[in-house]
Amino acid sequence: MSARKKVTIVGAGNVGSTTALRLADRDYADIVLVDVVEGLPQGKALDLLEAGPIRGVDTRLSGVEDYEATAGSDLVIITSGMARRPGMSRDDLVAQNAGIILTVVEQVARYSPDTILLMVSNPLDAMVHLAYRASGFPKNRVLGMAGVLDAARFRTFIAMELNVSVEDVQGFVLGGHADSMVPLARYTTVAGIPITELLPAHRIEALCKRTAAGGTEIVDLLKTGSAFYAPGTAVAAMADAILLDKKRIVPATVYLQGEYGIDDLFIGVPVKLGATGVEQIIEVKLTPDEDRALKRSAGMVRELVDTMFSRVNVDGKRADH
Ligand code: NAD
Repeated sequence: MSARKKVTIVGAGNVGSTTALRLADRDYADIVLVDVVEGLPQGKALDLLEAGPIRGVDTRLSGVEDYEATAGSDLVIITSGMARRPGMSRDDLVAQNAGIILTVVEQVARYSPDTILLMVSNPLDAMVHLAYRASGFPKNRVLGMAGVLDAARFRTFIAMELNVSVEDVQGFVLGGHADSMVPLARYTTVAGIPITELLPAHRIEALCKRTAAGGTEIVDLLKTGSAFYAPGTAVAAMADAILLDKKRIVPATVYLQGEYGIDDLFIGVPVKLGATGVEQIIEVKLTPDEDRALKRSAGMVRELVDTMFSRVNVDGKRADH
């Protein structure tokens, strides 16, 4: 048996292939790319494989249209589905992507019953919830990527504003993905100094707004798709935390059962990521304003999730809640 980890990436589109490139360069895991478009996963896997000699890495990559070759994956990253187009909200995406996620999760769970599911497809919070129900996996093995990306966007804008290295900027975000996210300025620091000490309130507010609209800003520029370089990079960082058991503290979309006063909902909070997936949910005290913003975000996510479950029939093992 190989000592190398096995990662399956479902969806060989922009985010999936960027994630594959980032992970292939790490040289600790072999990668299976899955897509429904004939030849696409095979072509991208071969192209990535041929970069190996130049990079000096022995990552094995393969591309497939069915799931047999994905069996026994340590981590499955799901990026399949449509990306947003200009004028399209995340809500518009829900119906299209829910059907795709249901069929994908069913196959993944069948071939890799012990894997960790890292969801990327939008609308993120709803798709993670759907994957949780459809897979029947325990909550520590189902999570979503959103906060690492949102925090990276926040960090980028703060570094640009202050003309400092991005390395010294730490961003803290909570809540639903993008539009309804809650950036926490109090816990956002530059070399340990809260940004509230470094920037006037109106500038912080402007940077928070730009961060929340960060996905839309890219969609409006690209016109034919949504962001993928930063998202793929964020996914790879989360894969590192899990597969290398790094115990990193990062924002992730996880299942809350009473934490932050929120029950039976997937939403973004700080967690510890390690070999078993979500190893701990970290609760921090919020001011009344911050708490209101998080509850508002949770309300928006719940509305979308309720709409989705009223339309989608989940035959998974968890139709009880
Ligand atoms: P893309 O269109 O480039 O790629 C999507 C791929 O999924 C396509 O190649 C398509 O053929 C494939 N696909 C469709 N149905 C499939 C199925 N049943 N099985 C396997 N593959 C299937 O889109 P993208 O830019 O890579 O974005 C992918 C998803 O990720 C979108 O839903 C997008 O909104 C989301 N996204 C999320 C975040 C985040 O922060 N969570 C960031 C960026 C993008």
